[in-house]
Amino acid sequence: MKTRAELDGDEWVINGQKVWTTQAQFADYVFLLARTDPEAPKHAGISYLLVPMKQEGIEVRPIQQVDGSADFNEVFFTNARCPKENVVGGVNNGWKVAMTTLGFERGSSATTGHRRFLKEFNHIVGEAKARGKDTDPIIRQRLARTWSNIKIMEINGYRSLTDALNGTHQTAALGACNKMFWSESHQRTMELAMDILGMDAQILQGSAESVEVLPGLRRGRSDYPVDELQAAFFFSRSETIWGGAAEIQRNIVGERVLGLPKEPKVEAKQA
Ligand SMILES: Cc1cc2nc3c(=O)[nH]c(=O)nc-3n(C[C@H](O)[C@H](O)[C@H](O)COP(=O)(O)OP(=O)(O)OC[C@H]3O[C@@H](n4cnc5c(N)ncnc54)[C@H](O)[C@@H]3O)c2cc1C
Repeated sequence: MKTRAELDGDEWVINGQKVWTTQAQFADYVFLLARTDPEAPKHAGISYLLVPMKQEGIEVRPIQQVDGSADFNEVFFTNARCPKENVVGGVNNGWKVAMTTLGFERGSSATTGHRRFLKEFNHIVGEAKARGKDTDPIIRQRLARTWSNIKIMEINGYRSLTDALNGTHQTAALGACNKMFWSESHQRTMELAMDILGMDAQILQGSAESVEVLPGLRRGRSDYPVDELQAAFFFSRSETIWGGAAEIQRNIVGERVLGLPKEPKVEAKQA
C-alpha cells in the first residue's frame, strides 16, 4: 500500500502515490485506497476515500502509452486533504468496497461493449473488402469467429442486465466471466485487423490533423498519428490487465463461480 491517510481534526491528510489513474487530469474526485491503520494486517486497515483532486498537494504526472497518448497518470499526494466523512463503507473496510467496485467495473464494461465491437468489426470488414482480403478463406474464418464472439458478448451483456433487473446479485461473477471473454477476444480481433492491413499496419495511418485530444479517444499525438484501428490494436494489449489481469479473472471464476478449491496462499516472510 503506497498511500497513507491520517486524521487531522475533520480531515484526512494523505501522503503517498497512486499509479495508473485513468483520466486523472480531468477528474474532480479520485477514489483512493489508503492505509488508515498501519498496524492492521494485509487487507484490513485500508480505507476507501473519495478525495477532491483540485487542490494543492496533488500532482498528476501523465504516463505516455505505446500509441503516444497519455490517458493515465501517476498521482502524487503530499499532505493532500480529504473531508473526514468522505470514507465509503466505513473506516478500515476499504478492501471490501474496492472488490465490489471492481465487480461493477468489469460488469458495466461488458453489458454494452458488444455495440462498440460490432461497429469496429464493420470497419475491419470494410478494410478486408477494400484490400481484396474478404475472399481469403482463413481471413473469412477469422472474421466469422470474431462476429460469433461479438454475438456471445451481446448475450452475456443481456445476462448481466437481466441479473441487475432481477436483483440476483451475480454482478461480480458474470463480470469476471465477461471481462475475461471480451478482452481476450478483442486482442485476437485487433491482431486480425493488423493482418488485414498487412504492411500498411506498420505505417502510421492517421494524420496530424485527425489527432483527438478529447477524453476517451485514443489517436496518438500529432507527431505519432495512429489511426483508429492502430490505436485500438495498441490499447487492446492493456485490456487483459486493467480491471484485474486475465489470470486473476480465472481465479475469481474458478473459486467464486465454480466453487473450486482456493489457490494456495503464500505467506510473506516477516522482516
Ligand atoms: C490501461 C490501464 C488503465 C488503468 N486504469 C486504472 C485506474 O483508473 N485506476 C486504478 O486504480 N488502476 C488502474 N489500472 C491498474 C490496473 O487495475 C492494474 O494494473 C490491474 O488490476 C493489474 O494489477 P497489477 O498491475 O498490480 O498486476 P498484478 O496483479 O500484480 O499482476 C502482474 C502479473 O502477475 C500475474 N498474476 C498476479 N497474481 C496472479 C495469480 N494469483 N495467479 C496467476 N497469475 C497472477 C498477472 O496475471 C499479471 O500477469 C489501469 C491499468 C491499465 C493497464
